[in-house]
Amino acid sequence: MNDVERLEKDGHEEEGLEKKLLGHVGRAVADFGLIADGDRIMVAVSGGKDSYTMLHVLRALQRKAPVKFSLVAVNLDQGHPGYPGHKLEAWLKAEGYEYRMLKEDTYSIVLEKLEPGVTQCSLCSRLRRGVLYNAAVSLGCNKIALGHHRDDLIHTLLLNQLFAGTTATMPPLLHSNDGRNTVIRPLVYAPESLIAKFAEAKQFPIIPCDLCGSQENLQRKKVKKLVDELEREHPFVRSSLMKAMGNLHTSHLLDTRLWQQATEKKIDHAA
Ligand code: SF4
Repeated sequence: MNDVERLEKDGHEEEGLEKKLLGHVGRAVADFGLIADGDRIMVAVSGGKDSYTMLHVLRALQRKAPVKFSLVAVNLDQGHPGYPGHKLEAWLKAEGYEYRMLKEDTYSIVLEKLEPGVTQCSLCSRLRRGVLYNAAVSLGCNKIALGHHRDDLIHTLLLNQLFAGTTATMPPLLHSNDGRNTVIRPLVYAPESLIAKFAEAKQFPIIPCDLCGSQENLQRKKVKKLVDELEREHPFVRSSLMKAMGNLHTSHLLDTRLWQQATEKKIDHAA
């Protein structure tokens, strides 16, 4: 295969991946009413594969969708030593995105407040959320898009069931308690493997996520390993878990609040 043929082949593959991602995002938008006419969406871009992909696909959707909405990409430098935000900024500029680069040293706060060796992620992401929520209001954005994908939802569901005694995952759309923000997750149906392939094909300038030096969340790591192992033997485990989240039989669970409603409905129906 010569260079021209190889470029053509790569272009077709990239187009195919983008089409699949657009399909997943379009379905999530339709199923959960994620985007409405006139929305101004702040897209949180960390510099990881997921957020680059989300930004790219939302712009592709913006060009095709019948509703009009605007996007502003926002990156937050949390003060981690050696954070290469300039790589991301150069890319955003070259691609013609509206963007803001924010800086807020939450890293020092995390170091100050936590004992060494304790996982930093919970405090770190709470602080990040606070900064991003305020930024959305000042930028006139009514929605904040986060890049969590299908596998994040699956792992969160299992983590909640195994370690927190609840059946819940990350919601596709969530209104914040103070009513100022609405968080949307357009990638909820998109498999991580597809996002990884697309990010590689597009050669996004990825910012590594280990600059903070935090320990990995061990429970999340274990759950991911468990799902990977199961999937090797049963290739539809992830699809089944996703389907299970949208296919609850409330009368066959033990939540007394839902059980009562389900039983009442049956009695109504019989009457
Ligand atoms: S991995 Fe690091 S930057 Fe990411 S949430 Fe955890 S502490 Fe924060």
